[in-house]
Amino acid sequence: MVYQFIKGIQWKVLTPTCIVCGELGNKTLDLCLSCRQALVFNARFCKRCALPLEVEAAELCGSCLRRPPRFIASYCAFEYGYPIAQLVRTLKYGHSLSHAQVLGTLLSDYLLQHHQNEWPKYILPVPLSIERYRQRGFNQAIELGRVLESKLSVPMNTNLIERVRHTVEQAGLSRRERHKNLRNAFIVIDQPVPEHIAIVDDVVTTGSTVNEIARTLIRAGVKKIEVWAIARAPLR
Ligand SMILES: [Zn+2]
Ligand SMILES: [Zn+2]
Repeated sequence: MVYQFIKGIQWKVLTPTCIVCGELGNKTLDLCLSCRQALVFNARFCKRCALPLEVEAAELCGSCLRRPPRFIASYCAFEYGYPIAQLVRTLKYGHSLSHAQVLGTLLSDYLLQHHQNEWPKYILPVPLSIERYRQRGFNQAIELGRVLESKLSVPMNTNLIERVRHTVEQAGLSRRERHKNLRNAFIVIDQPVPEHIAIVDDVVTTGSTVNEIARTLIRAGVKKIEVWAIARAPLR
């Protein structure tokens, strides 16, 4: 009885279990092969901000043509839909490290396949304010950064910038309100800054947060900034 119980725990702990369907995972990853094959990659997207595009031949979205962001490229692996949206929510609100492991691995595989030119000097996870980080004890961007760091051998830097104030949720705000909400929310706390950085976040929605971080970094002397995320949510 005790033996079976211990065996059961070992099975649970050591056997990869798919975080989508609960079946047996694949090799060491908590994701089974059929769920992995069912994931929808971001196939046609703006090279600058990763927004899914309707027009096949277009390179950039209307927004990037009108007002180019401060970063030069975005790599967002998936369209924001089932099951990615649910997985990201569990990562973020359920503080699930197995979700960080799976999503970080998928993003690093995507980057290994699609990333062009040289790797950045650092991975920079979008920071929470110190207050909020203490309160939550978990920042999903850092957990994704840890996985990317080990898979890609690009070091993560969590000491380069700090979020100096809380901001309200960006979704639902107008462009002007988003701008005001984020203005000077970040400061650079370490010098000298490297030339090339990748900002990492779970999901890019409006792009305002990563753009404000990029603006802050450029003012401090960073030359080249890219954005890496699990998914790019379409603007509503
Ligand atoms: Zn599955
Ligand atoms: Zn764009």
